[in-house]
Amino acid sequence: MSYLWMDGIIGISGSLLIAGAAYWKRSLSASGAAAAVVLGSAMYMLGSAPWFGTLIAFFISSSLLSKWKRRRKAEAESGYAKGGRRDAGQVLANGGLGLVLCGLAALWPHNAWWFAYLGVMATVTADTWATEIGGLSKRMPRFILTGREVPPGTSGGITPLGLAASAAGGLFIGFVAWSLGELQGGGELLGQDTARSLPVLLGLCLAGGICGSLADSWLGAVCQAMYRCKVCGKDIEKNRHCEAEAVRTRGFNWMTNDVVNAISSLAGGLISALMGFLYLTVI
Ligand SMILES: [Zn+2]
Repeated sequence: MSYLWMDGIIGISGSLLIAGAAYWKRSLSASGAAAAVVLGSAMYMLGSAPWFGTLIAFFISSSLLSKWKRRRKAEAESGYAKGGRRDAGQVLANGGLGLVLCGLAALWPHNAWWFAYLGVMATVTADTWATEIGGLSKRMPRFILTGREVPPGTSGGITPLGLAASAAGGLFIGFVAWSLGELQGGGELLGQDTARSLPVLLGLCLAGGICGSLADSWLGAVCQAMYRCKVCGKDIEKNRHCEAEAVRTRGFNWMTNDVVNAISSLAGGLISALMGFLYLTVI
């Protein structure tokens, strides 16, 4: 009982510290900070260090990248659904599925949950890195469906730099998960050695991250709601611009950027879980 109390206190104060700093640094809105505290505390209590640690690695690396050269990206970002400050919707779209998987692993311990979780974290990291770093590309993005050049910041636009960044983001998560697993010396959820080996973790996260972030671009290009501003004529992801209602030009109303992120992280999680399953059964 006392251990549970200690876990709770460490989890809540650690999450408060990180979310508080992110709020202070304007990476999170008030609702985003509240959601991050709940998510972080729950993850700490349900999972072990590699679970909590990969979430933190995603969060800190993404916040730092968003801050980096913000001014250079300001123009491309003005049409984005949301600015640099993450709100509760974005935090949950990125971390909610991870928490569900962590809870499932606590209830029914199995490596499949861990692999799926890694795929989810690899996807959200790869996707954020691709957006932040790819946004600095000197080359014009090409639309994932047609290969035609599109303006920077367009949903579904991809650049070689962005693809390289998403590969790096996936590998980063694999490396962090491996390091924490080694430090911890193997917890109850990481029993099998194969589930802890560096090449396996890097491979799973690379595949999950790239597939997940490509799924994100594809969904963004095909299904995401897009609007056109009636005042300035700009194509945007939000339904208001220039202080006026914008017209929907394509996609489904409910398919917001947060929904696209949540579905693509599920896709990345499935890819990694499938690969991990095949690896453990075939090899
Ligand atoms: Zn406008």
